[in-house]
Amino acid sequence: MALRRTPLLGRYDAHTHTTFSDGRNSVLENARAAEAVGLETVVIADHIFGEAPWLDEMLRQVEAADATCGVKVLAGAEGVILNPDGEVSLTEEVAERLDFILVDFGGMTKGIALDPPARQSRLIANVVSAVTKACESPLVDAIAHPLNLGRFPAVLSPVDFSAASLIEMATAFEQTGTAFEIMNQLPWWFPDHTIERITAEYADVLHLFARFGVRFVVGSDAHSCCGVGNLRWCERVMSAAGLGEEHLLDLPLAGERRKH
Ligand SMILES: [Zn+2]
Repeated sequence: MALRRTPLLGRYDAHTHTTFSDGRNSVLENARAAEAVGLETVVIADHIFGEAPWLDEMLRQVEAADATCGVKVLAGAEGVILNPDGEVSLTEEVAERLDFILVDFGGMTKGIALDPPARQSRLIANVVSAVTKACESPLVDAIAHPLNLGRFPAVLSPVDFSAASLIEMATAFEQTGTAFEIMNQLPWWFPDHTIERITAEYADVLHLFARFGVRFVVGSDAHSCCGVGNLRWCERVMSAAGLGEEHLLDLPLAGERRKH
């Protein structure tokens, strides 16, 4: 494929799902959708919680799509941060076969989504601990949609975090080289916020993290091929935060994980 000079925002989508987990389309359909909208790289990042019996077949389909489509297809995963100790739901054996690994807070994250402490200060401490320790994991390349805390039993908004706690997390990202995913569907996580409010609050977080040298990746979190490459909100929140291309990381090439 001839080298193009696409700007980084629009060059890749770091986060898409297929029927290997809860997406609606196949690896090939996501790859074709990515090529159709002009991306150069797309990551297949299906949910992995423990064993992934479909991993061999997924890798085979990624390889086939990569060979037949005019887009680089990377084999990734979205794992779960399990607890405030930052343990993640992927094994080393699974991780070493993948190109790009995101982890997020999900319904199974203890001390945050499950059994959250009654005191908000304790909950925030759990979040800070979980994020900083997950950043330290050699398996983790990026934290998926950080601070996605608007739909769990104990809701936290970005403004609930003090500057000191945000700086502690930003420092962990920067020092470990872990990427912060700006996810296009982040407002979905905050059904009680207007789009304007969550955009403004999240932009403030991005602005602070960028000041501390954190690098970002963009992802759609598309669960259908229709959403692959939809990064318009990413663009909007980056603009509100004063972020530019220079704050974005490109993705690693296949087989070249950034962290080992
Ligand atoms: Zn996802």
